[in-house]
Amino acid sequence: MSSQTRALIDKLERQHELSPDEWERLISARTPALANELFARARRVRDAAYGRDVFVRGLIEISSYCKNDCLYCGIRRSNREASRYRLTDEEILACCETGYNLGFRTFVLQGGEDGAFGDERLAPLVSRIREAHPDCAITLSLGERSRASYKRLREAGADRYLLRHETADAAHYASLHPAPLSHEARLSCLHDLRDLGYQVGSGFMVGSPGQTARHLAADMTILKGLNPHMVGIGPFIPHRHTPCAESPAGTLELSLFMLGCLRLMLPHALLPATTALGTLTPEGRHLGLDAGANVLMPNLSPIECRGAYNLYDGKASTGLEGAEGIAGLKAQLESWGYRLKVDRGDSLVR
Ligand code: SAH
Repeated sequence: MSSQTRALIDKLERQHELSPDEWERLISARTPALANELFARARRVRDAAYGRDVFVRGLIEISSYCKNDCLYCGIRRSNREASRYRLTDEEILACCETGYNLGFRTFVLQGGEDGAFGDERLAPLVSRIREAHPDCAITLSLGERSRASYKRLREAGADRYLLRHETADAAHYASLHPAPLSHEARLSCLHDLRDLGYQVGSGFMVGSPGQTARHLAADMTILKGLNPHMVGIGPFIPHRHTPCAESPAGTLELSLFMLGCLRLMLPHALLPATTALGTLTPEGRHLGLDAGANVLMPNLSPIECRGAYNLYDGKASTGLEGAEGIAGLKAQLESWGYRLKVDRGDSLVR
């Protein structure tokens, strides 16, 4: 490995920051040897911050209806072949109950932007979850909403919000998200969430159509400025009924490299080894942890709905991806040298 690229990793580990040009050089010059060096350092940095604890969050996919038309997403409005479902409040509460009994202390309600989940329905639902589980963190991942809506949901008891910025380059954003969606609106949501006292998660897809090292450099730079509590990244995976069906998937190799870089840039962030990583290859999540990740988000959705929340082809949702597999997951993690943590697992980012 060249001494210049190694020097960039040294700088990243020391200063937790690179310039966009340096990011681009590091990403473009990466080699397997450099990646191994990066992962060893990322593990050290993670272990110093969080030890070998792996935090779990129960993911409940509440609706596959979406008013948006993101070109890469399997539940986009224009996909007439998508099967659509929407959980009832009672079903969502039952998922939380099941999760609670399995040991989960964080619930993530994720879904498409579904008008049926307006504030008049969602705020009382969040309050009911809060009352039933005062010791749990409630995380929402329901896309862009008004500041007033985020405020109301926060007051109802939501603690955390996941909203990936998706890509930091405005033109690249526009190429993947038809109007009225815009890069500016997405960022303004992230600032509102932060301002309202949410613990915020952001992130991006690796290898999304048209993405270059320059775009990834911008993603890293924007995340440094945002300093989120959590950063979720995973490979883009094509869905056959979208305009991106023929675009190649993001690679495991680049996804892991970016995870390692994120750990050195944001030592205290929570970094999930995502479902998309586990979908690329069965070892994906183990490799993700060994590249510096420390969160897993098993699926708590009703088993009969999991196939319908089909963001991309082949999405993993059972076995160790399923919350019901938590005992197996615990054993698996131990065999890899990690410890399953079921408490709220708050981020050390302040
Ligand atoms: N509607 C919510 C939740 C979106 S789904 C929102 O807008 O935030 C969660 C994440 O899945 C998205 O942020 C996106 O980054 C990812 N995703 C969507 N389609 C994907 C695909 N084809 N491959 C990989 N990840 C995808």
